[in-house]
Amino acid sequence: KLYNEVQDLKGNIRVYCRIRPFLSGQNQNHTTVEFIGEDGELIISNPLKQGKESRKLFKFNKVFGQAACQEEVFLDTRPLIRSVLDGFNVCIFAYGQTGSGKTYTMSGPNLSSKSDWGVNYRALHDLFHISQSRENSIVYEIGVQMVEIYNEQVRDLLSNSGPQKSGPQKRYPFPFLFADPTILFIFKLCNNLFILKFSFLFIYVLAYNYAYKLTLYVSKAWYISLGIGIWNTTLPNGLAVPDASMHSVKSMKDVLELMNTGLMNRATSATALNERSSRSHSVLSIHVRGTEVKTNTLLRGCLHLVDLAGSERVDRSEATGDRLKEAQHINKSLSALGDVIYALSQKSAHVPYRNSKLTQLLQSSLGGQAKTLMFVQLNPDVASYSETISTLKFAERVS
Ligand code: ADP
Ligand code: MG
Repeated sequence: KLYNEVQDLKGNIRVYCRIRPFLSGQNQNHTTVEFIGEDGELIISNPLKQGKESRKLFKFNKVFGQAACQEEVFLDTRPLIRSVLDGFNVCIFAYGQTGSGKTYTMSGPNLSSKSDWGVNYRALHDLFHISQSRENSIVYEIGVQMVEIYNEQVRDLLSNSGPQKSGPQKRYPFPFLFADPTILFIFKLCNNLFILKFSFLFIYVLAYNYAYKLTLYVSKAWYISLGIGIWNTTLPNGLAVPDASMHSVKSMKDVLELMNTGLMNRATSATALNERSSRSHSVLSIHVRGTEVKTNTLLRGCLHLVDLAGSERVDRSEATGDRLKEAQHINKSLSALGDVIYALSQKSAHVPYRNSKLTQLLQSSLGGQAKTLMFVQLNPDVASYSETISTLKFAERVS
């Protein structure tokens, strides 16, 4: 079974490094990448500095050089993705400075060309393919959520009414109000006293809302205790992003349509806040529910694909106002993520999930039986040398 394939991966945390090629116009002679080993070694040096002291060795589970194509990268990611169909939770991150290829790796540069597809489209394609091939033994349902975390606030990117701040939804069932026999009866008692009727109505509406909220809590508890409700906004053990819309998908066509909505919603906010996408995390969550045909047992897995905010450090003396606030939120959440993965790699008893929205959101898919993969993205240009080193230091800590 695929299970074994996953067990073969050493430990639950893997770190891959990917170096993006030079873009046209960049000076190819000024590369910081000196050597890439078969076993995941990477030597970085500064070509503008004389002497050997600038050479630094890093070790990964795997290093993808500039020539590595999307397909090649996916081949080494596939076992993890497939394990989701066997009930594992998996988190895949792309970490690196802006322009280092995070989005290229996770989504690809171009939706319309299949060979450009990044991990997320290939993952969904693969999940559909395998779930269809198992159709006779297990029936799978796949649901997708997509949110953006910006300044520690979560926004649903797939909501039908555009990007929205998530939060408790206020839906009061007014239409049912007048059908309630209680109110009809009391209205009769009130006879013609308009004021009495009015004040009663007021109290009634307040009471009704509280009662309604209460029933919401109760029904959530029911869903949880019955172990059902993957398509409900609240999930047992917090698998889903609360209050983000869940969309059932049956084919790549559904997926591509949804992604377009997501990208559009992201772009809308990007014009308002210049280049927003590099300063927010985007999380695509794929929820899989399988029902074994013979035994009727339920199987659940979840895959989170995270395109992190740019890790570049903002000069404190230059950044002010919103820019500074953004930078502080990014620093905080990236270091919180680093702390969580570090704690997990150390098998530490206390894992500090609560320090950022991102780690809270992913809590159930980080640690325990869950698998984590981090793509560490590098820009080979010498101008990025110091950012490259700080990216690699982050990676060193978590691997
Ligand atoms: P990030 O999301 O980290 O800011 P992008 O994914 O947007 O970075 O990549 C920056 C630029 O580099 C884009 O123009 C992208 O197409 C290009 N690029 C990144 N990685 C690769 C790659 N492996 N091969 C070819 N072009 C790449
Ligand atoms: Mg990007």
